[in-house]
Formats: sequence, structure tokens, C-alpha cells
Amino acid sequence: MWRRAGRIRLHLAEITVRRVRRPLGPPAPNATFSASAPASSSFHHCLGPFRDSIGAPPSRSISTQTDGGDGRECWSCGAKGAFLSCGSCRSVQPVDPAVDYFRIFGLDRGYNIKDNSLEGKYKDWQKKLHPDLVHSKSEKERAFAAEQSALVIDAYRTLSKPLPRALYMLQLEGIHVDEEKTINDPELLMEMMEIREAVSEATDSQTLGKIQSQMKRKLETWSKSFEEAFKKRDFDRAVEATQRMRYYERAMEETVKKL
Ligand SMILES: [Zn+2]
Repeated sequence: MWRRAGRIRLHLAEITVRRVRRPLGPPAPNATFSASAPASSSFHHCLGPFRDSIGAPPSRSISTQTDGGDGRECWSCGAKGAFLSCGSCRSVQPVDPAVDYFRIFGLDRGYNIKDNSLEGKYKDWQKKLHPDLVHSKSEKERAFAAEQSALVIDAYRTLSKPLPRALYMLQLEGIHVDEEKTINDPELLMEMMEIREAVSEATDSQTLGKIQSQMKRKLETWSKSFEEAFKKRDFDRAVEATQRMRYYERAMEETVKKL
């Protein structure tokens, strides 16, 4: 069901460097993932970095044990604890691959994130890092800002939704979830068939809205189940919870497409 990948292969620097080419405008506050995109593409969009990072060569991987401590020394003024941008001289710092997504938002690693704990910090970082806002800085700092800005966007997208957040937490534990793996549970499959049928037969937004709230409740139930299992370090159950969440996430996307 899952395999433990000896050392975590989270390679944020590489991810951000690669992603820096896409437009850097911050997503709309509540636009976590493109709701209108086809299920598979939006899902792959959010999981792309995970897969890529898991496929990164081990020699370039980092250990989860180093969580960045208190940040590094600022390259410009030497102040300690420089992180994304220096608290003393405001110089933009290079991406530190040891920093995980939670730390970017000043959060402890944990599944339960309050709705409002990401957005403020997200906007804050984007203000400090957005390329348009650092245009007067040196070329080196502008490049750092572009990388950091992309990293902050990835972090926000990953942590703001239950399923990518769960997968990310597993990833930090060195656990890779097979996205293509199907669950052998006739009851679930029957349920999904019924939902799909209900979605295709739905002719008004009210009906679709009802199906959506039903999917939302299911997602919440399995989110909780993930959280409990993860706390107990019962990773088999945690992984299964994410796989079930994926089913409901996809069903949710089907309804969004029809709305
Ligand atoms: Zn500094």
C-alpha cells in the first residue's frame, strides 16, 4: 500500500527553480486549486511536486531531521535567523531546502490547520517576495525572490487543502502514496457509482450543491480519520484515508465541472 522511502526526497529548491517559469501572480485568496480544471489535471497539478520530488535522486535529497533550526545567516548583513527574507536588512534569502511548508507559515507540523492561519502569512510573504515588488533589488535577490515566491505558492496550495496536506505530511515521513492505487472495497465502489450517476442525472445547481455538501462531509470524516491514524503513526490507515479522500475529491470535482 505504501513504501517508506528511506530518506525523504523533498527537494524544494529544485521544485521552485523549475516552477519559477510560470506566472507568479498570487492565486486568489480562496482559489486553492483550479476548480474548473478536469479532475485529473488539477489533481496532478497539486501533486506534481510530490511525485517529482519523490523521484529526485537520493544524493540530492535532504533529511527531515534538519528542519532549518532558526534559519541561516543572512548573506547580506550576517544577521542570524534569516528566513525567506532577512528580518534585519530585508534582503531576500536563497531557498533553504531544509525549510518545510509548515515553517513557512510559522506553524508546527500538524494536520489540523485553522482556516485563517495560512492566508495572512501568505499575503505577507508575497508582499515581501513578489518580483514586482523587489524590482529595485539586485538581480541575485530578484532571482531569490522568484524562487521563494514560487515556494510560498506551492506551500500555500499544499497546506490549504486537506488531501494535498495529508499527502505532504506522509511525504515528510518518507511515505509515498501510490496515486493510481484503487481501493478494493465493493461498498465504496458502489457508493462512487451511485454518486457518479447522481451527478450525471442532476439537472439543477441545487441538486449538485447537495451532492457537494455530501462529498464535503465525507472528506471531513476521512480527514479526521487520517489525522487520528497519523497521530498514532498508523501509516497504513493514514494512507488508506488519503486514498478514500481522493475518491470523494474527484467526485467533488465532477460536481464542480457540472455547476
Ligand atoms: Zn540581513
